[in-house]
Amino acid sequence: MKRAFNFNAGPAALPLDVLKEAQAELLDFNGTGMSVMELSHRSKDYEAVHNKAQELLGKLLGIPDNYAVLFVQGGASQQFSMVPMNLLGEGQTANYILTGVWSEKALEQAEKEGKTRVGASSADSNHNYIPDLAQLDLQADDAYVHITSNNTIYGTQWKRFPDTKDVPLIVDMSSDILSRPLDISKFGLIYAGAQKNLGPSGVTVVIIRKDLLERSPKNMPTMLDYNTHASKNSMFNTPPTFGIYLLGKVLAWVERYGGVKAIEKVNELKASMLYDAIDQSDGFYKGHADKGSRSLMNVTFNLSSEELEKKFLAEAKEAGFVGLNGHRSIGGCRASIYNAAPVESVEALRQFMLDFRAKN
Ligand SMILES: *Cc1c(COP(=O)(O)O)cnc(C)c1O
Repeated sequence: MKRAFNFNAGPAALPLDVLKEAQAELLDFNGTGMSVMELSHRSKDYEAVHNKAQELLGKLLGIPDNYAVLFVQGGASQQFSMVPMNLLGEGQTANYILTGVWSEKALEQAEKEGKTRVGASSADSNHNYIPDLAQLDLQADDAYVHITSNNTIYGTQWKRFPDTKDVPLIVDMSSDILSRPLDISKFGLIYAGAQKNLGPSGVTVVIIRKDLLERSPKNMPTMLDYNTHASKNSMFNTPPTFGIYLLGKVLAWVERYGGVKAIEKVNELKASMLYDAIDQSDGFYKGHADKGSRSLMNVTFNLSSEELEKKFLAEAKEAGFVGLNGHRSIGGCRASIYNAAPVESVEALRQFMLDFRAKN
């Protein structure tokens, strides 16, 4: 068996240990004679899996008691609509900070639900930076402020979060949740599709401060109302059981790793291996993101010509590297190095980049 050097942006690499455990339990989970996929979601065995995943996420991120952890479906994209449907009251205005394609998509959905405004944008320079916290236009009467903590496509990441005072800060953390410690009490709501840092696609994590549940209007479609999922422990209908099971395994892996602080250290190491290769290349490789805004999760770069980029990508593919093409909206190259990307894969890529430069 040969495992690929997987740099996919999402769905992305999962820890090998997690896959092996799932493989070993696939035909007979916990002595049930069934896989987790075949269990009733109302069974004791599944319920334990479900609650354990919730508990572990709470423990790893230090989620306070006044927050609810929800497992929903529809991806981060569905949260683009659920957030304004539940939290943007009539006559209120939601403040969106635009730092890339995903925040623009979030805004587009919010515009259908109510009034919005843009408190800052990095569109003026192809989203290669995170706006200065002091430059954000924040108003005390905003319904909420929405940001994207890591811009998967452009390779930028918020290093510090704005202090929005009494206005809830809503964060799309799809591509960097669990990559570093967080002070959850600073946020009103966090959401993340699982397929980058948490597990497989199909399950979306929502962490919501419980008082915000009261904002949802009456007569919401049941499945789109956060209260439905909060009041039924995310089991109003059939949850994505296998995805939640794998999420639980990824969380247990992070715990064995030493938790998010330990993961952050390794993430910093992995990112610096690639950024150093870029910075020490005399301009052969050009990073897309400003140095102060560089993402630890998605390393984006260009070569001096499109032709050379094509050659780089073709030879990288030949050498067993997967997923290095930049997103179709900006081109170039992107290495996604989420929690589960092994240091050895990143080292192999770094070496490949050095060799390619020497030969070209
Ligand atoms: C991948 C991604 C999304 C889209 O997630 P889906 O689960 O496919 O809807 C949204 N936001 C960010 C930051 C992402 O990286």
